[in-house]
Amino acid sequence: MICGTCGTYVPDGLLSCPKCTITKSKDGFMTLQRALIPAVLEGRIQFNTSRDEAMRWHIMLAGAPKHTWCGMVVASPRYRSKLDVGNLIKVCADCRALFHELVNEVKK
Ligand SMILES: [Zn+2]
Ligand SMILES: [Zn+2]
Repeated sequence: MICGTCGTYVPDGLLSCPKCTITKSKDGFMTLQRALIPAVLEGRIQFNTSRDEAMRWHIMLAGAPKHTWCGMVVASPRYRSKLDVGNLIKVCADCRALFHELVNEVKK
């Protein structure tokens, strides 16, 4: 069947569209990250980051230790660090854009 929401082909035997399921759970995760942003900006907590093979750093989803904000799955991160909000330039563009987006939403 074809998903009525996003138009993706859904393989027989699956009851729901995998793409929409991922998007929905990601929305849930982003709500959680947004709730954490004020504490992060105040320096009370820090997001974890991990580095991929291309030497870019990604922000890890709080509550999902293997998933990055930009949707990558980091199965066994070799390099982990804490997000330095004053030095976002080393973070991948997608993760950084999301971070700015959430900060703007929080500051509204
Ligand atoms: Zn869909
Ligand atoms: Zn990323």
